[in-house]
Amino acid sequence: MVKLLVTAFVKLHILHTSRDSILSWLVWTWQQDVVNQFSLRKGHQYSPPVSIDDTVAILKTFPLASQKFLLEEISGGFQTQHQKAAWDTSATDQCRYCPFPDSRFHRVFHCPATDQVRSSYFEVVEHYLALDSNIHELPVILQSPQDEFLRMCHHLHPEAVIDEQLLRKLRGLSELSPIVFFTDGSCQHPSHRTSRVAAYSIVLDVCVTNDQRRDMARQFQLTGCIPDTLKVISVARTTGAQSIYRSELFAILKICEWLDNTVIYSDSSAALLAVNRCQLASNAESLCMASESDLLQRLWPTMQHSTRVFHKIKAHNDPRQTLDLLECYFQLGNLVADTAAVQTAKCLNPDFATEVSQHHSSLTTERNMLHKLYSMHLEMSKCRTQLAATMDDADTQQTPIITTQRNFLQEFCNWVGESTNRKSDLQR
Ligand SMILES: [Zn+2]
Repeated sequence: MVKLLVTAFVKLHILHTSRDSILSWLVWTWQQDVVNQFSLRKGHQYSPPVSIDDTVAILKTFPLASQKFLLEEISGGFQTQHQKAAWDTSATDQCRYCPFPDSRFHRVFHCPATDQVRSSYFEVVEHYLALDSNIHELPVILQSPQDEFLRMCHHLHPEAVIDEQLLRKLRGLSELSPIVFFTDGSCQHPSHRTSRVAAYSIVLDVCVTNDQRRDMARQFQLTGCIPDTLKVISVARTTGAQSIYRSELFAILKICEWLDNTVIYSDSSAALLAVNRCQLASNAESLCMASESDLLQRLWPTMQHSTRVFHKIKAHNDPRQTLDLLECYFQLGNLVADTAAVQTAKCLNPDFATEVSQHHSSLTTERNMLHKLYSMHLEMSKCRTQLAATMDDADTQQTPIITTQRNFLQEFCNWVGESTNRKSDLQR
């Protein structure tokens, strides 16, 4: 049995793990020591790993030209006067725009020449100064201490289970007629890949005929009471990647593994498409390159020698307004499944839910702060570029420029942030 050991607590079976999952763990493992391994910059040896996912998510919110500038800030792709003075004996470490020594800290937190910009980002400056962070050297989001723990928990969440006695009874009934279920998945904070949480629910419909369903729907429209014929029989947090697609697929898979004669209502087009792909596949191995292939390869055998009917149901319709009573009942089934899945994602195992919620909340703060910091960097750079242009104009009036090989060398040596390259990037 070949397993990949990705953390001290997580092993991935190479044949039973999806390609997406292996890739996601590879990136996560790589980011643990990429800065230590591949950067000679001092001061980062003992800091937590960079959260590449969160940092990239913030970078992507800026236009391409700004992203290039910000990447230069992250990589430290320019020299300060302080750095220049360390190797050029003719240079001083004085800031070009004020009488104080130039450094990255000075530029972000101190330089009076950009005070006007800084004052409109007071909250950001206070936040990072209070943390005593190294954000001026490496403006990124660092991986939180809970990250590995939460990631491991998601990997190890137990799958949905069904009461043994109920399962025996349903198996007996399914020999006479198909058993009807509603499934749904939920993913909280879906755009935050490192702090989102997902879950799914399975709802059993105990009505036997459509007339019973119409009666229950009629009662609902009169009283507002959800029919008690819709029973939530199982819920679970999603094992593995926390995504809505995986959650929807998991709910369907569990039912198919429990019973052979089923009707399943789902509001997920993506999951139903995947099910269809499974039904058409000639063998499980042919699904190995599909997204969430571990679940599809488990689903494939349950499609053989069984009776499966799947229905797509439109999500988030208001059943109070639906005239067709049968349609109303199906919407109620979807509503019950949706509510259970959302509640599970938010509340199952309260201590864990609190941990997840705190993690998301602090990460959201960090992401907002980094976004504002990047905006401040961009505005400060524009401000310095304008100051430099004013100073250059004054110099030009006094000294004519003679373009010689030596001038180019001098320009290169003077590459201190607002060089020609950075100016043109911003103006583009
Ligand atoms: Zn300055």
